[in-house]
Amino acid sequence: SEERENLTYPLFGQAVRELAQSVADDGYEPDIILSIARGGLFVAGGLGYALDVKNLHVMNVEFYTGVGETLDMPVMLPPVPNVVDLSRRKVLIADDVADTGKTLKLVQEFCAEHVDEARSAVIYEKPHSLVACDYVWKRTDQWINFPWSVEPPVVRRDGQVSGL
Ligand code: 5GP
Repeated sequence: SEERENLTYPLFGQAVRELAQSVADDGYEPDIILSIARGGLFVAGGLGYALDVKNLHVMNVEFYTGVGETLDMPVMLPPVPNVVDLSRRKVLIADDVADTGKTLKLVQEFCAEHVDEARSAVIYEKPHSLVACDYVWKRTDQWINFPWSVEPPVVRRDGQVSGL
């Protein structure tokens, strides 16, 4: 479909509170929130405040290169989270969207080796995702415009190349 799902910053604020509420209502009390950079950082920060969890970690996973363009497999990039910090903990994995679900699957498999329990929370889940997330704010099959990536990176207004 040509339609896009447009998430604005105000709507994101509402979404992350509602996502946190569903985690709380479920009685899940994570020790750690593990965000998947970069989009998951926004979600993890919001969930951290809403769930009163201060222990936030980050994982870098690279997969998509553009709209509908994918690499074959998601890959974990350094730095990899310190497994000692994760051991015997209850983890909440936070990401912006489970699309194919391959990214979340990779992170879940990483967690399975190191943590007590791992559940996942996403703003969006696509219907064909091979991972069923524990907490989902909204389901859609459209391409999502996120407020943090809908615009290109800023460029210097004076036109100078950086480093000069
Ligand atoms: P997956 O591994 O679940 O296919 O993809 C996860 C990552 O791909 C997301 O964290 C996100 O960065 C990117 N991605 C997947 N679907 C979308 C989408 O509809 N819109 C945007 N902006 N990014 C997406």
